[in-house]
Amino acid sequence: MTFAIHGLNVSRGVAIGRAVLVASSRVDVAHYFVQPHEVQSEIDRLFRGRSAVVDEIRRLQESITHMGPKEAPHELGALLEVHLMLLQDEELITSVKHWITERLYNAEWAMTTQLEVIARQFDEMEDEYLRERKADLEQIVERVLRAMKGSSSPIMVHQTRAVRKSQQDLLLDDTVDVPLILIAHDLSPADMLQFKQSVFAGFITDVGGKTSHTAIVARSMDIPAVVGARLASQLVRQDDWVIIDGDAGVVIVDPSSIILAEYGFKQRQRELERGRLQRLLHTPAVTMDGERIELLANIEMPEDAHIALKAGAVGVGLFRSEFLFMGRQGRLPGEEEQYQAYKRAVEGMQGLPVTIRTVDVGADKPLDESLRDDAHLNPALGLRAIRWSLADPAMFLTQLRAILRAAAHGKVHLLVPMLAHASEIRQTLSHLDHARAMLDNRGVAYGPVKLGAMIEIPAAALSLRLFLKYFDFLSIGTNDLIQYTLAIDRADESVAHLYDPLHPAVLRLVADTIAEGRAQGKDVAVCGEMAGDVSLTRLLLGLGLRSFSMHPAQILAVKQEILRADAGKLAPWARRVMDAEDPAREMAAN
Ligand code: PEP
Ligand code: MG
Repeated sequence: MTFAIHGLNVSRGVAIGRAVLVASSRVDVAHYFVQPHEVQSEIDRLFRGRSAVVDEIRRLQESITHMGPKEAPHELGALLEVHLMLLQDEELITSVKHWITERLYNAEWAMTTQLEVIARQFDEMEDEYLRERKADLEQIVERVLRAMKGSSSPIMVHQTRAVRKSQQDLLLDDTVDVPLILIAHDLSPADMLQFKQSVFAGFITDVGGKTSHTAIVARSMDIPAVVGARLASQLVRQDDWVIIDGDAGVVIVDPSSIILAEYGFKQRQRELERGRLQRLLHTPAVTMDGERIELLANIEMPEDAHIALKAGAVGVGLFRSEFLFMGRQGRLPGEEEQYQAYKRAVEGMQGLPVTIRTVDVGADKPLDESLRDDAHLNPALGLRAIRWSLADPAMFLTQLRAILRAAAHGKVHLLVPMLAHASEIRQTLSHLDHARAMLDNRGVAYGPVKLGAMIEIPAAALSLRLFLKYFDFLSIGTNDLIQYTLAIDRADESVAHLYDPLHPAVLRLVADTIAEGRAQGKDVAVCGEMAGDVSLTRLLLGLGLRSFSMHPAQILAVKQEILRADAGKLAPWARRVMDAEDPAREMAAN
């Protein structure tokens, strides 16, 4: 039966495929396709993993027969017996083999997929005893996964398979080779990074806001995604057909052939639109009245630099360096590792500037899932970004040295997030001097950097004089500026309807920052999600913005808006919008 789930549209486009449900805790399991000729060896690997666990349990059983009831209570023996039974369950193994042979999933992925199927059946059971057997099943699957570790093939082999198949192809070929849609209750930004190289054609999560970092990474992958879809991970079953309408923020489950045909058409239209935009790749971003606009890229990893170049960016306006720090079980990257990463980004941009933002972890970007900050009541107001850096000077100095060294290889701008206090500015500058002195002492080469501050706390936007005195440029982080101005947690879907870039207070802070910066002859960019939102391009131009930094996938669409705009004429209109009681309505009216 067809039904729709409504969520928040975070990444445009249409994806049609089969659902792959992944529990958040199992996201780090490798997901890749095997080649048809590798199916047998993959099944053998599964059997070897299972045998290793069976042997392990038998040895345990053996050892507890020699123990007394105190060290090895009766329940332990019974539990091991249950685990052995589950492991040897033919139905389980047959189903896992099905995912390998029919879908070409690697063994670990096949195993966790089947676990999701059975877990759901357990959840629906009336009998509490049986319901609790789910935990046993999870334990044995974990054991088999551990036993298989080290014997897997490299991650993400032939990953681009069939990501953009036409709807006709899908109907004809219902076995392998269909796009896959990932569905999870929640995904951390670090999880998303894992999936960046992956096989999935779209994402759906139950939780998350439009500018949560999970959504931002989804957008950077340029694949349709819906977050805040509430019960999606419970309502959709493994392998169901689903459509993601990334424009409307809707998920359609088990679509009829008429709906499939309609969305297949939409998908093709979008492909055509993309093709048309490609023609603007080499056109300079200049408005009709001759204003040259700088279009920069936001990146998460050094390897994204080539995507930025391919999209026609004239530099990187935001390299979110924290992604180098995540998912490493607390082992932070050292100076050399960071230096190499920044240098790769700088060299990748071939002489164009790269703005490296110092680490911004905390709130919805924990270093590790296990370190998720639930201990603090308000992590978004807590120790994140520059506050975290200043709290750990050794770590901060390591990063500053690495960035300074990378600046010897090309144009580097250094951007500092979440500043609000004069004391933070002074400390940052003094650490920067210290980092230079340390490199001097070691006789290590480094280069000059332009220094920028992110304006993303209302207090910063309201004390611009201070920032303009110490920094060469400003970059407005509208994602956080909106969050902190309106007191709306950007990652919380339950208040997402109040997260409003067009709130007069937000527009006032953005406009004043642009105007004061320009009056002092300083560059001002916007690097939050507003910069890549084509519905806001004209407004930002009218407010005087001349530098936009966004996901590479958005650059050409924003450029199209710029080419059609007359910045001079937009200025009085933008002021009217800003002063209106309801700016959204005022914008729609004109
Ligand atoms: C912002 O806050 O707008 C921004 C660009 O930084 P981040 O999204 O990484 O917090
Ligand atoms: Mg921010």
